Amino acid sequence: MGAQRVRDGFARLYGAEPEGVWSAPGRVNLIGEHTDYNDGFVMPFALPHTTVAAVSRRTDGVLRLHSANTAGAADTAGAADTAGAAGGAVELRLDALVPESDRNWTAYPAGVFWALREAGHPVTGADIHLASTVPTGAGLSSSAALEVVVALALNDLYELGLQRWQLARLCQRAENVYVGAPTGIMDQTAAACCTEGHALFLDTRDLSQRQIPFDLAAEGMRLLVVDTRVTHAHSDGEYGKRRAGCEKGAALLGVDALRDVPYDGLDAALARLGDEEEVRRLVRHVVTEDHRVERAVSLLESGDTRAIGPVLTEGHASLRDDFRISGPELDLVVDTALEAGALGARMTGGGFGGSAIVLAEASDAEAITKAVEAAFAAAGFTAPRTFEAVPAAGARRLV
Ligand code: ADP
Ligand code: MG
Repeated sequence: MGAQRVRDGFARLYGAEPEGVWSAPGRVNLIGEHTDYNDGFVMPFALPHTTVAAVSRRTDGVLRLHSANTAGAADTAGAADTAGAAGGAVELRLDALVPESDRNWTAYPAGVFWALREAGHPVTGADIHLASTVPTGAGLSSSAALEVVVALALNDLYELGLQRWQLARLCQRAENVYVGAPTGIMDQTAAACCTEGHALFLDTRDLSQRQIPFDLAAEGMRLLVVDTRVTHAHSDGEYGKRRAGCEKGAALLGVDALRDVPYDGLDAALARLGDEEEVRRLVRHVVTEDHRVERAVSLLESGDTRAIGPVLTEGHASLRDDFRISGPELDLVVDTALEAGALGARMTGGGFGGSAIVLAEASDAEAITKAVEAAFAAAGFTAPRTFEAVPAAGARRLV
């Protein structure tokens, strides 16, 4: 998404140039699914798809918000924005922001203001116009891109001096408490902290992190993202149920979080859970998934990149059979890709739709894409959208 275009959109909408333009990326998670709210490990990387926001401060306690993605078709093209001062922008008063009162997209940026003010930061308003190339509801974390781009802009403009990880925490609070979606810390940290050419190995307990070089092209491989076009909704019950089940497991095992169950103590832990069959399955997924992240990190760091393929595929089986958050479209991508020669494949993101990732030799990528398309057509599913993911930059100021 071009900075100039968003800047021009802002000027048409609000009748003045913005003070600056910022961007934050969507992400895919290479491995480490549903571990982030169990204090565990994740390894996302940033996508070249970004949410770009042009922002100016206000001093009157008013927040004006406009997204090219939610406006009408003419608006998206930039034409209808000329229709008068801030036509189409949503106007909110900062002192009237109440958690879980807004079911619209504006809850995400408003939530960032709410979280900053709750933490005592002196933000007094803003005019914001944004546009995004991150597909929404596709498991690629458009919500965190939206939160983080706003938080970074405010951090710069209001000179708040917050570190990236602190911005991520505030954005998570915005999404958990203000929007009302119980997500972990991975998405916001990925948007805030990822760097080009790397995957981010993140310990979600203390947010310590390591940038892991991840240059598939140099090794003749590709990572495909297949958006199944099946949208998910985090705020609906299934995600919350899994989360509550994990908390129950930790309580039954007497640990702070499932991250504290060691991999080599898994069998003993499962035995202790007795006939709590559902909790046992959730625990098994989380503990083995943390172990898979550690295995993937050591394989990547020792240069054995191809060997992460089976680790990804094992992760999918665990999400499908133990955590039970896959779906027919996601399973079809994975099964078809593997049959067509992929090195590994798994669903990524929250589940129940969204996207799958496929690791493949560069020479096989096209045949795999075609095979998945054909399988979807044969099954009568909506045609998927496939693109190649190359690790891109995290949030930054553009102008
Ligand atoms: P994901 O983060 O996987 O894309 P979520 O359900 O967490 O899915 O967040 C998607 C929601 O975020 C959208 O329904 C919309 O409310 C909001 N959103 C994200 N990006 C934008 C944008 N550019 N403009 C307006 N709303 C957006
Ligand atoms: Mg999201």
